[in-house]
Amino acid sequence: MTTTFNETQLSKRRLLLGATAGVATSVFPAWRRALAADQYGLIVIGGGTAGMPAAIFAAERGTRVLVIDKAPILGGTLDRSNGQIAAAGTVFQDAKGIKDTPDAHYADNMRINRNTADPVLTRLFVDNAGDSVNWLAKNGYRVMDDHPTTGGGHEPFSQPRYMWGAEEGVSIFKAMEPLLLKGVEAGRIDVLTSTGAADLIQDSTGAVLGVMTENDEGKLQDHFGQNVLISSGGFAANPRMFQDMHGVPLTRDIAYPYSQGQGILLGQSAGGYVRGQDKFATLFGGLLIDNNYPSPFEAYFSGNPERRPPREIYVNVHGDRFVREDYPGLDYREQALGRQPGLRMWIIADHEMMTTSKPFVGGWTVDQMMEGFETHSMFFKADSIDALGVKAGVNPQRLRQSVDQFNEAIDSGAPDPFGRVHRPSKIAKGPFYAVTMTGWTVVSSAGLTVDGRLRVMRPDGTPVHNLYAAGEVLGAGVTSGKAFTNGSLVTPAITFGRLLGQKLLDFRV
Ligand SMILES: Cc1cc2nc3c(=O)[nH]c(=O)nc-3n(C[C@H](O)[C@H](O)[C@H](O)COP(=O)(O)OP(=O)(O)OC[C@H]3O[C@@H](n4cnc5c(N)ncnc54)[C@H](O)[C@@H]3O)c2cc1C
Repeated sequence: MTTTFNETQLSKRRLLLGATAGVATSVFPAWRRALAADQYGLIVIGGGTAGMPAAIFAAERGTRVLVIDKAPILGGTLDRSNGQIAAAGTVFQDAKGIKDTPDAHYADNMRINRNTADPVLTRLFVDNAGDSVNWLAKNGYRVMDDHPTTGGGHEPFSQPRYMWGAEEGVSIFKAMEPLLLKGVEAGRIDVLTSTGAADLIQDSTGAVLGVMTENDEGKLQDHFGQNVLISSGGFAANPRMFQDMHGVPLTRDIAYPYSQGQGILLGQSAGGYVRGQDKFATLFGGLLIDNNYPSPFEAYFSGNPERRPPREIYVNVHGDRFVREDYPGLDYREQALGRQPGLRMWIIADHEMMTTSKPFVGGWTVDQMMEGFETHSMFFKADSIDALGVKAGVNPQRLRQSVDQFNEAIDSGAPDPFGRVHRPSKIAKGPFYAVTMTGWTVVSSAGLTVDGRLRVMRPDGTPVHNLYAAGEVLGAGVTSGKAFTNGSLVTPAITFGRLLGQKLLDFRV
C-alpha cells in the first residue's frame, strides 16, 4: 500500500480496547504501517442495515471497499428486525394505484412524532426512501399481499405506504446479500468479520485516515481509507450506556448483541458529539420474565383498547393512576408510561375481572393467568388492596385511594378522574390482583450528530473530515423522533447507506 502519511502526524487513542491490548502506541510505528492493509475508497464499520447498501453502491461506482464487522456474520439487526419500512413512490404503491408523495410522507412522520424528529434528516430520508425500496424490489424484495398499509399498531399514516416482507428483516437482507457478494467476487469489496473497529486513525488536523481493527484473536491491524462510515448500530444491547444516555433502564433483552454503542464512542473520540438523549420513547409495556434487567420477554401486554377494552386500572409504583386506560391512541399511552419511574406499571384487577375477562397477557388463557399468580414473580395476589400494594411493591395507601376514586366515580356517575369511558365494573371484591408490566424498546434514541450530508460533526459546527455515520448510530430519534414512527429506522438506514455509497461520498478511484 502507498501512504504519504508521516507517522508523527498520526494520533491514536485506545478508548475501546481492554487492558490486554497493551501494545498500542500514541504514534504510528513503522512495523504497523508495513502491516497496514490497502488504501480503500471507503471503510464501512458495521456491515448491517446501513453498511451493506453503502458498500454495495460504493463498489458499483468502482471504488474499493472494506467492510468490517464485529459479528461473525453480516446483516446486523436485520436478523431480528421486523423490517417494517415506509416510502412514497414505490412500485408496490404503483401496483395498487396508490398516489403518494414524499411531502405527504414527511407531513405524516412529523405529525406522528409531534415534530420531534430532525427535519433535515427526515427530509433526506423521505425524499429518497422510494428509490431505496424500488432498488430492493428490483433485486427480488417483495412485500406481503395486503401491503402497503397505513399502519400496524402505532399511529397510522394517511396513505398506505407501510410494508414488510414475509421474512421481515431477513427479506431485506436476502435482497442485498447477493449484491454484496457480487462486489466481493469482483474484488471490489473485502470483508473482515469477527473484527471490530477499535480506533480511528487521524492526522494532526483531526481528519480521519483509516481504522484500526482488532479481531477476535486480539490481532490489531490498520486500514487506510479515503472515507470512513460508522454504521455500527445503536446501543440497545448495552444496559450501562443506555441508562447513562437516556436515564432509564434497558428493560428488555431483544436488540442485536453487537449493538454496544462502540461506533458512538469512536465518533466521539474523533471529535464528534452525541445528541438525542431526550428522544427515548417506550413501547407500551410487556411482561418480563423477571426484574433482572435487561430481561427476556415472557409475553406481550394486550393493552390496545380497541382490541380489548380494559376493565382494570393501571398504576405506577406510587400507587397512582397515570393514564386514561382506554385512550385510543397508543402514542399517548406510551408517552405516559415513559414518564413513570422504572418504566413500570401494575395492572390492578379484582377476582371477577380476572376470571371473566379476556386475559391482558397476550396469548394467555384465564387458567394460565391464575397459575401465574402462584408461580410468576411479576404476578401478585392478596385479599385486600393494602396487602396487594405491599406484596407488589406499590404504595399501599395511594393504591387504595386510586381504587376508591375509580369506584366512587362509577358509583356516583361522576366522570372518571382520567376521563376514562369504558368502566363496566368496579374493583370491588377480592381476591385482588396485580401484574407488573414494563415499558421496553428495541432501539437506542441518541447518537452521533451529522449534517445533511451525513458528515460527523464537531460541537463547533465543523465536520470531522472523511468521517460519516448512518443507521441507528445516529440515534433513532433523528428520523423517528420521540415516538415510534412507522418504518423510520430501517428505511432511513438503508437509504442513508445507499446515498453515501451512490453519491454523497467522493472517491479518488
Ligand atoms: C426486534 C427489533 C425489531 C425492529 N423492527 C423494526 C421495524 O420493523 N422497522 C424499523 O424501521 N426498525 C425496526 N427496528 C430497528 C432497526 O431494525 C434498526 O434500527 C436498524 O436495523 C439498525 O441498522 P444499523 O445499520 O444501524 O445497525 P445493524 O443493522 O445492527 O448493523 C450494525 C453492524 O455493526 C456491527 N458492529 C457493531 N460494533 C462494531 C464495531 N465496533 N466494529 C465493527 N462492526 C461493529 C454489528 O455487528 C452489526 O452487524 C427493530 C429493531 C429490533 C431489535
